Amino acid sequence: MNGTSTPGKPTDVSVFIPHLDDPQSRPLMVKMARIFLQIGAMGEMEKFGREMRLPTLAKRLSKQAFRLYDQYLIYTTGRLQKKGWQVYCSPGCGSCCHSMPAGISTWEFLLIYDQLAQSGEVERFFRRNLESCQVLSRVRWRRSGEFLGRLRIHENGYDTVLHAYGMEQHPCAFLSDSQQCLIYSARPLPCRMHFALTPPELCSPTHPRFSQAVRLNLSPHADVQQALQRIDARLNLTISDLLAPGFVTLAANVMRFSAISWI
Ligand code: SF4
Repeated sequence: MNGTSTPGKPTDVSVFIPHLDDPQSRPLMVKMARIFLQIGAMGEMEKFGREMRLPTLAKRLSKQAFRLYDQYLIYTTGRLQKKGWQVYCSPGCGSCCHSMPAGISTWEFLLIYDQLAQSGEVERFFRRNLESCQVLSRVRWRRSGEFLGRLRIHENGYDTVLHAYGMEQHPCAFLSDSQQCLIYSARPLPCRMHFALTPPELCSPTHPRFSQAVRLNLSPHADVQQALQRIDARLNLTISDLLAPGFVTLAANVMRFSAISWI
């Protein structure tokens, strides 16, 4: 773990955490990276844009990889708690879900899309994400007058725009009225990795003590991120890494609202 703040959910406070590469955490990350490398090596990845078909094995392996990551998080947050930190995140707290998660891989978008396609909810969430895109576009235009479609991580103004978006307090399209994540088992890494070490009300950028809050993104090791990037490179679909624009583009332009065929 490197304690970096992006990709993930926006956070104004960086907490330095020593790189966790100990005998407990390292094997989890190595196995996770290996799984994503295996998925990336599958021949169907390159053909997906034409055939819309993927191996069922890839989905099964992904679930294993995310289970490993969850183990890594449990272990890591346990270490933090032993050091005296309180982790405030708990089910039913959607305090950080009024921001726009960034740094989502295409592969993760496909898994989210597939879950919604299986339950027949793509159109419903397409509409809700479109609303989020409209809010983001308004914020973006207000800030710089540039087109949202060109936004990528590390471009100038990215953090500023996402902070301004957070100030709008527009709920994530996948957040229920009771503050539950409706795609919890498929939620992307930027959502899984985000933790609050100060009371959740401070997670809102509109809170007067927002800048004093301590939040962190427990990103996976670099080899995991590189393995995910290799999958994305083979898929070669051009979609944003921001949650709402990425989902909308995938649903409408790539999938055209049809289901993924698993073979
Ligand atoms: S996808 Fe789920 S966890 Fe992530 S911001 Fe949306 S509601 Fe929250």
